Amino acid sequence: MRNFKSYRKEIAIGFLSVLAIFLLYAGVSPMPLVAVGVLASAAFLMTKSRGGLAVGAAGGKRPAKAPSPLSFEDIGGQEQAKKELIEALDFMVKREEIRKLGIRPLKGILLTGPPGTGKTLLAKAAAHRTKSAFVAASGSEFVEMYVGVGASRIRDLFKEARNQAVKLKRGSAVIFIDEIDGIGGKRDGGQQREYDQTLNQLLTEMDGIQGDESVRILLIAATNRKELLDPALLRPGRFDRHIQVDLPDKKGREHILRLHARNKPLEDGVSLERVAEETFGFSGAQLESVMNEAAIYAMRDDRDQVSQADLTQAIDKVMMGERTDRETTREERERVAMHELGHAFMAETLRPGSVAQVSLTPRGQALGYVRHHPRKDSYLYTKQALEDQIMIALGGAAAEELIYGGRSTGSRGDFEQATGIVRTLIESGMSELGIVHPEALTQVEWARENASILDGLMDRTRQHLAVNKDKFYEMLDVLAKEETLSGDRLRECLAQDAGGGASSAHAAS
Ligand code: ATP
Repeated sequence: MRNFKSYRKEIAIGFLSVLAIFLLYAGVSPMPLVAVGVLASAAFLMTKSRGGLAVGAAGGKRPAKAPSPLSFEDIGGQEQAKKELIEALDFMVKREEIRKLGIRPLKGILLTGPPGTGKTLLAKAAAHRTKSAFVAASGSEFVEMYVGVGASRIRDLFKEARNQAVKLKRGSAVIFIDEIDGIGGKRDGGQQREYDQTLNQLLTEMDGIQGDESVRILLIAATNRKELLDPALLRPGRFDRHIQVDLPDKKGREHILRLHARNKPLEDGVSLERVAEETFGFSGAQLESVMNEAAIYAMRDDRDQVSQADLTQAIDKVMMGERTDRETTREERERVAMHELGHAFMAETLRPGSVAQVSLTPRGQALGYVRHHPRKDSYLYTKQALEDQIMIALGGAAAEELIYGGRSTGSRGDFEQATGIVRTLIESGMSELGIVHPEALTQVEWARENASILDGLMDRTRQHLAVNKDKFYEMLDVLAKEETLSGDRLRECLAQDAGGGASSAHAAS
């Protein structure tokens, strides 16, 4: 419902009209009153259009507002990046010392890292710490077909930053350009005239930044692909501070989860440490999404607190996508079950105790999936560990071959994963080729080595699974009835007469 305030204009117009009619009726001329009304409205409209909106960097309109009060304490993990950024910002704050020592002003800081790791948050926190105005744009906003448009947008961006700082009475402004590779890619000096002009304008603006200006400008840019940037951008005096913003480690993930749990009631006993363990490889944005989705699950069930089960479901959703109502035939479901059991059996064979659950719930693009117990974050892998990972990935296809005599399209993603790991094996000098420079290998040599590694591992996978062929049918019954199968139930089944004579007969087939 609209309140009294929102009807002010209508009430004033109504009141003035009634007053004018009354004055006419009383024989008094209402003209002076009408003139005063017109002048007052014109003055009101003018102040509104001057103070309310500022011309946006990319030509659009943006509300002029103080930088959001986001500080470094609101950013989880990223301790090293925060430390380096704060050190760099001190240059901006300690103006007097810098002037005395004749140090040139810091103009550009480049944040490099995967999407969703908090680069925008870091730039906002930088503006907050240095009490600067904050203006943001994305590299893609400057990409235009027409020569000169991108360059003029760059000029507008710097102008807007200075204007905002003046308007907000700040001595400095932070300009944040996300995806700088959109404009800062290497110049080819050829056809791309518009593109080159945009980049040249950016370089000119950066060179024009002076230490003694009334508004000091600091440019913070973010990219995921630093190697694509033009060397002119990276040279001293331009973006000469590079800060790596990586995916968070376990401690960082827990910190981010805690920050996003601040406004969410959690059930007693909920362990965010466990969630952090289970979310290896997640970015800050994905962790925020896990907390949010978990709260949505609680709301759907009419509960006022978030449970551990909500969080587990939310991890699956963020990793695999929302549950889908895809209609599948009985044959398809059975094949999916056998495929997932293939992965699960291989995982238990090579890493006993590692399977948490096998599920036939379709999520996102997947028709079923295996959840693994969290492992410690690891950044180094042995040859054995990589080969195990490949065999677990191949387990699905091998199981389909074993049961149905052939594969289906369901293994495409698994093969992509397996070939990716093979590439790592080769590039790390752990293949039969020994230590090689990847670029020295021809496509044929790559293909040959790839096939040789995958064929060998596929044979071993088939042999492992053939031992348990009967158990596939046993577990299929449980999965068909309950849709999920716990890791414990799976292990119980595998432990029964493990390696018995009847089963091993299949190994030879
Ligand atoms: P992109 O490269 O895609 O623009 P980015 O690195 O700039 O991504 P942000 O926009 O800073 O990522 O982060 C997106 C959202 O993810 C934030 O609004 C926040 O909710 C969450 N987030 C990301 N990293 C962190 C973090 N370190 N601490 C707390 N929240 C985070």
